[in-house]
Amino acid sequence: MTEKYEAIVIGGGVMGCSTLHYLAELGVTKTLLLERDTLASGSTGRSMTILRMHYSNRVITEMAWWSRGVMANFEDEVGAPSGYQQNDWLLVPGPGNEDAASTNVKLAQSVGVETEVLSIDDAISRWPYMQFGENECVVWEGKAGFADSHLVTNGFASSARSRGASVRLGVSVDEILHENGVAIGVRTDQGDIFADRIVLTTGPWTNVLLEQVTEPLPIHTVRHQVMRLKQQEGFEKVAEPFHPIVVHAPSGMSARTDTPGYALVGYREDPCDRDTYNQGVDTEVVVEGMGLFADIIPAYEDATYVNGWSGLFTVSLDWNPIIDRVPGFENLVVGAGFSGHGFKMSPAIGRSLAELAVGAKETTFDLHPIRFSRFEEDDLLKSAYGGNVFA
Ligand SMILES: Cc1cc2nc3c(=O)[nH]c(=O)nc-3n(C[C@H](O)[C@H](O)[C@H](O)COP(=O)(O)OP(=O)(O)OC[C@H]3O[C@@H](n4cnc5c(N)ncnc54)[C@H](O)[C@@H]3O)c2cc1C
Repeated sequence: MTEKYEAIVIGGGVMGCSTLHYLAELGVTKTLLLERDTLASGSTGRSMTILRMHYSNRVITEMAWWSRGVMANFEDEVGAPSGYQQNDWLLVPGPGNEDAASTNVKLAQSVGVETEVLSIDDAISRWPYMQFGENECVVWEGKAGFADSHLVTNGFASSARSRGASVRLGVSVDEILHENGVAIGVRTDQGDIFADRIVLTTGPWTNVLLEQVTEPLPIHTVRHQVMRLKQQEGFEKVAEPFHPIVVHAPSGMSARTDTPGYALVGYREDPCDRDTYNQGVDTEVVVEGMGLFADIIPAYEDATYVNGWSGLFTVSLDWNPIIDRVPGFENLVVGAGFSGHGFKMSPAIGRSLAELAVGAKETTFDLHPIRFSRFEEDDLLKSAYGGNVFA
């Protein structure tokens, strides 16, 4: 018997599950999500899950801010915990980036974000256990934080399932079936399944399916390494219990508290093969990453490396996402290229993908700046910090 749905979502990372949830919010509940592994088994489950709003482009700032509201009220909005923890966020922009930082702060303030540029004296009086270089400035955000990627992903999936959606694990999609510019279904390793519309959220593997139907997206994968450190004994009492999330723009190092007494440090973006990359952490990266972090919070000079992992950033040419209908198809939608900072926007991304999939006349966010065609039109988004994850 032919199996047919209102929508199929391919890929069970945070983006696919968020899309499934927002399809249900829009009344589309006869849906099927196909994941070849388990939920959050791709980039999502390796994320540092930092939530901040400091960006160079309005649509990204708005998406991050709107999404932060969903993450903070996840129980009410989605019906499950997100593990959200509000936490101060500090960016050390580094020499030459002061104007960029201040422009982004003004943008974020205009969206409603509680943020300001602090002098070093102000920062040290608030966090006396931190240190910064002379003549530096620091950007502060008060409603930043982090969440739990597995809780968020599974929460979105459960919410959709409670309204009729199906989630099928261990099913690999091999091909998108289409006729005369209309996507009609998918060919999987377990047979063909049909649908009125298809959403592609396969993260690093997006082009594997996309290039069968159109030009591949200009995206590539880089390996980002994350180390878990045990803090100096008793430091959680000094830092009450969470020190700010710290980002050092010149090096790309970011760090946050993990469970009390532990911290996560993310460092390095090295091009790699998405299927064969080293999923561990390099010794030199541990030494450099811990050193950079201890330069800002010296109590980490006595920290111990516990363990770590590497994950994939799927990076677009301008380090910003691509959210659009696939050219030539009204009913095939893609969300990709989150460039190492997608988790925080996942509610807004899922909402946008769902709106595009149902053909909504108006979308919650202005998706024009993050359209598919911006690359061939040479209309890339610009980052105040040059091309990197701080986009
Ligand atoms: C180390 C690291 C740190 C990060 N830190 C942050 C951070 O602090 N803050 C932030 O906002 N973002 C962060 N990110 C980025 C964020 O995690 C990603 O942008 C986000 O998780 C991407 O989700 P996704 O659903 O697009 O992709 P994925 O999670 O990779 O999901 C894609 C899914 O598709 C499945 N799939 C692929 N092909 C097929 C197929 N043919 N058939 C069926 N299923 C298929 C895969 O198995 C996978 O589960 C980080 C990422 C990494 C790796």
